[in-house]
Amino acid sequence: MYKIQSTKLMKEVMGNYFLGMKDPSKKIAWCTSVGPAELLRSFGFEVHFPENHGALLGATRTAGDLIPEAGKLGYSNDICSYLTADIGSYLKKETPLKEHYGLNGPPKPDLIVYNTNQCREVQDWFSYFSRELNCPIFGINPPRHVDEVTREEIDDVASQFKQLIPLCEKVTGTKFDIDRFKETLKLSAEATELWKKVLYTATKTPAPISFFDATIHMGPIVVLRGTTVAKDYYSVLLKELEENVKSGIGFLEKEQCRLYWDGMPIWGKLRPLSELFSQNNAAVVASTYCNSWIFDAFDERHPFESSAQAYTEIFINRSEEAKQRLLSDLIHLFRIDGIIFHDAKTCANNSNSRFGLPQRITESLGIPHMVIEGDLCDLRFYSEGQSITKIETFIEQLEIAKVS
Ligand code: SF4
Repeated sequence: MYKIQSTKLMKEVMGNYFLGMKDPSKKIAWCTSVGPAELLRSFGFEVHFPENHGALLGATRTAGDLIPEAGKLGYSNDICSYLTADIGSYLKKETPLKEHYGLNGPPKPDLIVYNTNQCREVQDWFSYFSRELNCPIFGINPPRHVDEVTREEIDDVASQFKQLIPLCEKVTGTKFDIDRFKETLKLSAEATELWKKVLYTATKTPAPISFFDATIHMGPIVVLRGTTVAKDYYSVLLKELEENVKSGIGFLEKEQCRLYWDGMPIWGKLRPLSELFSQNNAAVVASTYCNSWIFDAFDERHPFESSAQAYTEIFINRSEEAKQRLLSDLIHLFRIDGIIFHDAKTCANNSNSRFGLPQRITESLGIPHMVIEGDLCDLRFYSEGQSITKIETFIEQLEIAKVS
């Protein structure tokens, strides 16, 4: 059976990251997953990403017991299940971090920073913890749903990043050091470039990494951007995958069709879904989600402007027209036969099937699509039996279309 050998190293890297949070001498910042992590790291903060914890609650299927706890405080079942699971985890004092890393919960923050580039939900989520833990909070509010990001928009966000500096200085007692920021951003740029190369090995047939593998291996690019650890990890992973490409080894021996996954992962069902596609010789080779941590714009020579650009032009923050262009390019590049849109009940922000985009793509490119209804963490919104039938029918239809 195909196995990515670097997985063992990845687990070590993630374990060390979580254990590093135990160091009492470190200041801790909480940050949204596509927030200005490099600026925070340049002050020496260890950075915790609550969405990463949310994904862990989903993947370990503990979210189901925790979400109702947040409901008791008035957080609706229909809003972001990362938010409700994470708040529920805090209220119930239960977390898989305990079993895996001996942590009683996410580390207590000295500073909380959010960026609404992805959604407004993070503002409510992080504000809850700011009130609850009596912790200073800073919000970055970039323009939303941009087409191509403009100079004025970059300047606006760069200026908001700069306004965060005095607070970081106050909390850490450390003066801002532009060279340290540049160095951190350079490391982040190198890691993200390697991550892109890792994902793009799947442009080859047979692909050496699937979407489902990538959701696991993306850990370091989410939580360790701006460190040598992330950069070194992706050098190792890339080497392995490139060797597999050279040897013609992929996660499927025979790819009957190549698929694209749009939207959030269904964290609690990654393994059965991966097996379902594999059994049907359908290779899910690319995704919007994993690509979201490719930041082409990072340039340490212009650290504020380039990071402002990178974090404002993320896919989730783009116009429908820009999303169609970006998806179309990836569909060509990865030679996609069909697209799966995951309509996640509690994340409208990252569900792209609600305003006719799938239909427009199918019409313009002639690539069929299907929509699965589900959720990132709340499995009450996912009907497994129905989804399996839909997926198998879709794959069959793609295969019939290919031979006819
Ligand atoms: S983008 Fe979606 S999943 Fe992520 S924090 Fe916002 S609402 Fe939650």
